[in-house]
Amino acid sequence: MSLETSIPRRLSIIDAARLPLCSSCNRPITPSEKGVVFPCPNCGEVIIWRCKSCRSMGVPYTCPKCGFNGP
Ligand SMILES: [Zn+2]
Ligand SMILES: [Zn+2]
Repeated sequence: MSLETSIPRRLSIIDAARLPLCSSCNRPITPSEKGVVFPCPNCGEVIIWRCKSCRSMGVPYTCPKCGFNGP
């Protein structure tokens, strides 16, 4: 497979489309940020991401699947 040869080499600093979004503030979480990730404690089917600031401020999150609200 040599698909790479046809792709222009562009260095994107952060590929925002691939970053997880904070479940509290919807901000993309950068790999350097050390956000937390865990499955929804209620349904366990949704992966919840929380950025560092939401975690330290205790901002609540809502599970998009079951509507569970938690700190
Ligand atoms: Zn956040
Ligand atoms: Zn859930």
